[in-house]
Amino acid sequence: MPSKKIHKILVANRGEIAVRIIGTLRKLSIASVAVYADNDADSLHCRIADEARPLGGGSLKDTYLNIQKIIDSALDAGADAIHPGYGFLSENAEFAEACRANNLIFIGPDAESMRLMGDKIRARQFAIDNDIPVVWGLVGSVEEIEAQAAALPYPVLIKASAGGGGKGMHIVEDAAQLHLSLEQASREAEKYFGNGQIFIEQYIRNPRHIEVQILADHHGNVIHLFERECSVQRRYQKVIEESPSPTLTEERRQTICETAVAICKSMNYKNAGTVEFILDENQNFYFLEMNTRIQVEHPVTEQRTGIDIVEEQIRIARGKVMGYTQDSITANGHAIECRIYAEDPENNFMPAPAELTLYHEPNMRGVRIDSSINGPTTISDSYDPMISKLICHGKTRESAIEITKNALKNYIVQTRKTNIPYLQSIIDNEDFLNNRIDTSYCEKHQKELVTSMHQMRDEVKKEDAAALFLFYDFNKLYLENKNIDNVWEEIGYWRFNMNIIVEVDGKPYTVNVEKIRRKSLNCIINGQDYEVLLSQNGGGINKVIINGTAESVFVSETSDNNYCVHLKGLDFICRRNDELNYTKDYSNIDVKNNDMTYFSPMPGKVIKVNVKEGDVVKEGDVLCVVEAMKMENNIKAMTSAQVAKVLVNEGDKVDVKTILIELVL
Ligand code: ADP
Ligand code: ADP
Ligand code: MG
Repeated sequence: MPSKKIHKILVANRGEIAVRIIGTLRKLSIASVAVYADNDADSLHCRIADEARPLGGGSLKDTYLNIQKIIDSALDAGADAIHPGYGFLSENAEFAEACRANNLIFIGPDAESMRLMGDKIRARQFAIDNDIPVVWGLVGSVEEIEAQAAALPYPVLIKASAGGGGKGMHIVEDAAQLHLSLEQASREAEKYFGNGQIFIEQYIRNPRHIEVQILADHHGNVIHLFERECSVQRRYQKVIEESPSPTLTEERRQTICETAVAICKSMNYKNAGTVEFILDENQNFYFLEMNTRIQVEHPVTEQRTGIDIVEEQIRIARGKVMGYTQDSITANGHAIECRIYAEDPENNFMPAPAELTLYHEPNMRGVRIDSSINGPTTISDSYDPMISKLICHGKTRESAIEITKNALKNYIVQTRKTNIPYLQSIIDNEDFLNNRIDTSYCEKHQKELVTSMHQMRDEVKKEDAAALFLFYDFNKLYLENKNIDNVWEEIGYWRFNMNIIVEVDGKPYTVNVEKIRRKSLNCIINGQDYEVLLSQNGGGINKVIINGTAESVFVSETSDNNYCVHLKGLDFICRRNDELNYTKDYSNIDVKNNDMTYFSPMPGKVIKVNVKEGDVVKEGDVLCVVEAMKMENNIKAMTSAQVAKVLVNEGDKVDVKTILIELVL
């Protein structure tokens, strides 16, 4: 294959991966073209690209999944190639073909490899045909699988053949659950992946997820860049990934990496890809699937090997020989990636799209951040709620963990909810530290991790937060460098001897302000003296000394007029009670006397209503299903009750706080 020149690449993606790809294009002096949906016009990936092309509004089908629009944008911009990133069209064979038909290089494998591996059933069969171990499985129609109900080796896992992103999988513990789960799984498969075909696999208890990064060029060279272990998952989606796997023996590492290379050789695979395996307690591994694209967690490998995988992807797509041979690759130290999400770990990891009022990245040795943002913004509910990835690299697992711990503490993302405190709990957890992990780690440790999140909060003195908040609130104009010469602003400084009620995380503290100045506050809280001295001021970021101890604090005003105060690695919501704000209630049930009102927990669409007025329900019954961000949320009865009113119909769009159903006890 003759090598081709690439001058300009269209990046058919958004978010952190688009930003990351454009970064490499810059390095290579290749011009970049971003594409964006209407609601992404101000996004970082558009701002940093050499040019940005609009895709219009509407659903994903009209924008990031619209093959024609993307091809037209590339042609119109005079691009030579398209990089699809991950998700969206990255594993869409039709898209790869459309690129080729229009003389655009698709930076990825050929359509045939994508079709083979994109279909989990075919991929399984391919592995079996090539003597690669897979777990026991059964392929057939819903009826055919149901006919075998009594004979299945429970627990089993239902999977969508075209599935991905951890979506649409259901564990079935016994024959009694099979029918409902098959129904839901095939409905989800049809809706999310446009293909209702499902199959079942034996569910391996307590496995680990190990995957191997592959690079393959058009000249028959296939190499691996070692493995990543991604066993820390919630909802089958990776949360923390690391390399090397702290679990594999050297012999198993060698074998699993060679197996991955062998699979790619047998299918004549080209470009970057990842072969995923599960590993049982006896270090037996089984092929799971292959992702024929760049993966979310690829930076873990990049940090260890020093190889820019996107750069290699481009080199391979140009038809050149890879820049590395297997022998030339060395992996150094240990790297850990944490995925930073706007979500609520205490509420089933529910996405938490919201305003983001302050963003500040830690700047430390060994830390890399791949982010979709670089300042205040709005986290949209139209896309995946991942904000960024924090990748920490150290000499050993212990030092990588230490760096991660420090970085998480100094990573400021002020918005309604993030999983940062949750990640902090994991990184501090005995079982994580000792590598006692498997793919159900998050589920098994949920209680413990939430308790530790609460403990971390309890350890921070709320009085410090209250004093800091008041100092900031009084000095806001000065601290934000606004109107510092305005005389009216000075009026604040002679106020003293005031009693102010400050709420921190909803709990009131009476603060007796003795003296407030531009650079200091003296007050008494619960009979104790507090002194805040400002030592350095930089917008929302301030260095202060509280009662003699130096702290960095980060404060921003939220859209509902509260303040978010970052102190000792955590965010606290503070407000003055004398300007009483309404109390926000995120729980989705309201109980009054014998009536229980169920609200929608988030904006979305009602896709199923299971009850009608007068029905008697028992605890755990699914009343209705609200779909949001590619996820079905089952709204369950908290207790036995009778249905008093059903206020929504299937297909209705709902908002947070839309009343769905009323029950009466
Ligand atoms: P990775 O395998 O790269 O670690 P995931 O499997 O979590 O990451 O998927 C990466 C992204 O792509 C996620 O945002 C996920 O929602 C999305 N994704 C993966 N597969 C599909 C698919 N078949 N359809 C739609 N989105 C997908
Ligand atoms: P996706 O395409 O959604 O990434 P995978 O087949 O890669 O789907 O599976 C995602 C995760 O689900 C795995 O990392 C693993 O945690 C779990 N999983 C998949 N298959 C099995 C199985 N047979 N037994 C136990 N866990 C499994
Ligand atoms: Mg997978």
